[in-house]
Amino acid sequence: MARYVGPQCRLCRAEKTKLFLKGERCHTGKCPIAKKKNPPGKGPRFRARKMSDYGIQLREKQKLRRMYGLLEKQFKLTFVEAERLRGKTGENLIILLERRLDNVVYRLRFANSRKQARQLVSHGHILVNGKRVTIPSYVVRQGDEIEIREASKKMVVIKDALKEYTKSGVMPWIMLDPDAMKGSLSAIPRRNDVTDLSDVNEQLIVELYSR
Ligand code: SF4
Repeated sequence: MARYVGPQCRLCRAEKTKLFLKGERCHTGKCPIAKKKNPPGKGPRFRARKMSDYGIQLREKQKLRRMYGLLEKQFKLTFVEAERLRGKTGENLIILLERRLDNVVYRLRFANSRKQARQLVSHGHILVNGKRVTIPSYVVRQGDEIEIREASKKMVVIKDALKEYTKSGVMPWIMLDPDAMKGSLSAIPRRNDVTDLSDVNEQLIVELYSR
């Protein structure tokens, strides 16, 4: 399946929740989710329909998949990996998603959105432990040093994104040196630490894939 290239806000409206796909705009009054309450597309606007259990589970999976910008196959592979690990599969899934290099770059405030972070990685602007890594799905380990390549430190898009750090800081498992444009995972995050996913019920995704 090809990557979705249509309007990002449409995905939020389809899921009826903010997926934070457009960086700073998502935190301003320009976010259309409050104004446009109907799901996108034509057809009957208000159809009071009870969703099946399958529908609810599917929507939860789509919500999380779209937040991290993964294709169906990539998401399923991450789930399979989460199943292999010890502990609760749903929690493992979220932790594995959080440890993706593109997500860590986003959490380090080098990018305003995960989409932008993926581009920084795949265009070779990111070094992991001093070596260029261009694979967005690279799983970051505790202590790995993530930094902006010297030649890319002047990029306006990165400097602008880093300004967010001064406003809202970073997640507790992230260590950032904004002046040196480098940082690391100071710890492997736990499920409860990922507070911006508190309305995601990962158990529904486990149930969906167990059908
Ligand atoms: Fe979603 Fe951000 Fe668009 Fe709001 S601005 S609808 S949160 S992508």
